[in-house]
Amino acid sequence: MDPIQPKKPVVYIGSQELAKISSLLPSNKKRSIIVHSLISSLGLLTPDASRTRHLRVVTPRKATYKDLAVYHSRDYLDVVLDPSKSNDEEVGNTTSIDGEFGLEDDCPPFPGLAEYIQIVGGATLTAVSALQQDLTDTAICWDGGRHHARKAQASGFCYVADCILAILALKRSIPRTPSHSDETSPLALIHKPRIMYLDLDLHFSDAVSEAFYSPKSSLTPQILTLSIHHASPGFFPVSERNGLPDVRSEGFDPFTLSIPLLQGASNATYAKIWPIMERVKDLFKPDYTVIQCGLDALAGDPCSTFNWSLGEAEGSLGWCIEKVLKHWPGKKLLLGGGGYNSPNAGRAWAYLTSIAMESPMSLGTEIPDHAGFPLYAPSFTLDVPAGNMSDHNTEEYLASVKSSFDGVFAALQNRLHA
Ligand SMILES: [Zn+2]
Repeated sequence: MDPIQPKKPVVYIGSQELAKISSLLPSNKKRSIIVHSLISSLGLLTPDASRTRHLRVVTPRKATYKDLAVYHSRDYLDVVLDPSKSNDEEVGNTTSIDGEFGLEDDCPPFPGLAEYIQIVGGATLTAVSALQQDLTDTAICWDGGRHHARKAQASGFCYVADCILAILALKRSIPRTPSHSDETSPLALIHKPRIMYLDLDLHFSDAVSEAFYSPKSSLTPQILTLSIHHASPGFFPVSERNGLPDVRSEGFDPFTLSIPLLQGASNATYAKIWPIMERVKDLFKPDYTVIQCGLDALAGDPCSTFNWSLGEAEGSLGWCIEKVLKHWPGKKLLLGGGGYNSPNAGRAWAYLTSIAMESPMSLGTEIPDHAGFPLYAPSFTLDVPAGNMSDHNTEEYLASVKSSFDGVFAALQNRLHA
């Protein structure tokens, strides 16, 4: 009998260049350096025999024009990849052309923009390749997760639609090695992978959800998007798709799903709605799950909207991620996203990395001495605890969420098992 094969290492996309260029993002200056430095100083990137699963650091490649043009329009790429745009000394003074492509207000052009788009887009695509080449079943790219960027428009601090590019790349059919039983059927050699996109950022994944929204289709889609977020009048982003799904509405698409939560959402609220995610996954049976792990729903974020904690309680971010990584079928791609308290981003993504390595760190772990150490005052530990904000998601509201999803489950079952 063959000895039990150890699991393949988790693939972690990182390099000095990625951290440096990703840290230029105006909304998250230096965040990438802070995150990768903490993860490195905690020893997660170096081999340690005591861990169940190792981690392999993979240097990202830069996305080519062709890679980016799989989704982005050529007009948009010609503007954002124009080196004169990035080197413009009067950055911040936008033109009418910039405005047309969303390069104003919260998405100004900045020095290094072209390189930023190439390396962040390329980082997520490098993670996708690692999954497709079977180097791993779990790949991490904390610099990705830019879920508001559109085909021809920067939006909400996002300039490159790496989530969409990842889904489009994963969607491509992969020839399967024939087994004895299906050698005779050429169709059996082609498998169309199903991709579930789960977005945990405080903000609705408007660009990703709308990119794959197809209410009139009667085909079985390969992609299902599900976003859990806050939505209220005036809260970014405005979208017709960010409310509870309604099977009776003309625009209903059971493969474009959304769970809006009210102010102060806590671990208890996430725990109560989590069975919805499990049921959707059981019906859809993804080959890949792409998880956007934005951190702006955590307590302590300047958005101050939700009251979610990092771990270990039922319903916490770490609890949700462990459920997906440990118990869901198929391969997983973990991406970053929002999160405007940079040391908390370091804490959270370090903790999630350790969960992916099947050796979760204790939340009481002390922050090691490294260049970023003073940022972690006053606790100097890994934990991101909940605050004392009150949770407005009442039992009545959560019952309305559940009843709206009863209709979704029936529709999904119909479409998937027709
Ligand atoms: Zn966000």
